Amino acid sequence: MAWQRKTPFGYMIRDGLIQPHPDEADAVRYIFRQYQAGASLLAIAEDMTRQGIRYHSHTAEWNKNMVKRILENTKYIGAGGYPRLVPDEDFSAAQRLRTERNTYAPLSTDIRPIQGKAVCGLCGMKMIRGNRSHGLVHWKCQNPDCGQSISLNDEALTELVDAQLRGLALTPHLLTAPEPTQNEPDLDAIRLQNELTLALNRGSEGPEYIKTLALAVTAQRYGQLPDSTPAHDMEQLRARLEEGPADAGALAALMSVAVRAVRLTPDKNVELELVNGQIIAEKEAQSA
Ligand SMILES: [Zn+2]
Repeated sequence: MAWQRKTPFGYMIRDGLIQPHPDEADAVRYIFRQYQAGASLLAIAEDMTRQGIRYHSHTAEWNKNMVKRILENTKYIGAGGYPRLVPDEDFSAAQRLRTERNTYAPLSTDIRPIQGKAVCGLCGMKMIRGNRSHGLVHWKCQNPDCGQSISLNDEALTELVDAQLRGLALTPHLLTAPEPTQNEPDLDAIRLQNELTLALNRGSEGPEYIKTLALAVTAQRYGQLPDSTPAHDMEQLRARLEEGPADAGALAALMSVAVRAVRLTPDKNVELELVNGQIIAEKEAQSA
């Protein structure tokens, strides 16, 4: 639409170059300061409307989405070649505050994989995500004899798990394949194997009989082979992580392939239990 801004708020084009717009650049810095001082998005929007600095030229009205977009716009720290208007510290402080204050956000998509794998750090039973109240979610251990209950908000929990996954991504050597589940050799298999050995030793059996026995032994062995998919996925994941820094996709794969359980501990921390049985606790992940 014609009235929409072509240049991001805070900038202007002068002599063909993007430059800070003096009044708007001041307003951007003011917005970051106000937000850090505790003002809400709405309060800042009303403040801006009163001050008369226009976001859109056709109206003096500000809404909280405009303020929100300003607070998350990385151009203000120099992204895309734009002149910097805000120091890194102020920008990241604003992002932290937004996460903290965002208590009524809808269920984050990132919580779902965690939800499926959350277990009690004390007894190992499944933890159930309860209702939200005041932004906190109550996780409750399903084991009535344990009954551990932890209050955390989704953002904090997601962040804890993310931090563990990032640490794990830097230590791909930990991603060893899970031990194949050793099946007890069953009696039929032993009997068939013995029969085949005897038949071969006797040397008097017809080739058809030997072949049938050999096929039966092979079929038995095949039936006993552990599923090799988890090991294969683990190997691929390790190779991918050894190649370079993990992106969001690699972290998601790590969560789905390598992590068997997310253990919630009473000190509101998380430990990852890998499919190979290793436990990734916070200290290990960070020192790596
Ligand atoms: Zn428990």
